[in-house]
Amino acid sequence: MKLMSSDQQGCQLEDVAAYLDGELSGPALETFEEHLAACADCAAELRTQRQLLCTLDFAFHEPYFFELPRDFTRVVAAHAENDLSLMRGWPERRRALQLCAGLALVSFALLGAAARTLVFDPARTVLRVTGSLLNLMWQAVYDAGMGLAVIVRVAGRAAAFGPHGLWLLVALVFIISLSLLPFLIASYHRAQIVE
Ligand SMILES: [Zn+2]
Repeated sequence: MKLMSSDQQGCQLEDVAAYLDGELSGPALETFEEHLAACADCAAELRTQRQLLCTLDFAFHEPYFFELPRDFTRVVAAHAENDLSLMRGWPERRRALQLCAGLALVSFALLGAAARTLVFDPARTVLRVTGSLLNLMWQAVYDAGMGLAVIVRVAGRAAAFGPHGLWLLVALVFIISLSLLPFLIASYHRAQIVE
């Protein structure tokens, strides 16, 4: 048989469904099977419909394919109705307002965090550095004062004892000056670095 296009043959697509359902018999079945062997379009249609039937058959006869809960439709409808009535009511509106307020707060917090990163953190760093420098300087002054007090006390006691006391005092002042020299140089350098 010569292959012809479906238009020329006048394909009966309902024959495909009838064939699948086993409704064709006798001469009609023979004619259709002959046509099927010659017509690629009807063969393809038959394949498609058979696959669809197989899928549907599997879906409806396999007990675990669709495991919808009991009263599924009723429960969904009830939920939808409930949500809608809540949306119309005051509590839902208040909840929406609260949500908006929360979102606004979060936005402000984020903005605040950004501002802190951009403005406050550098300022705090400057303050902290300045503070630690001041602390350092104060500590140095305090240490020097304490050392001086101890030395003066020792020197005074030395001067009070015997004739060698004065020489001892001079020697002490000289030693103190020598020991203070590195400290003075260091603080001078530090002052230059701060400036
Ligand atoms: Zn055909």
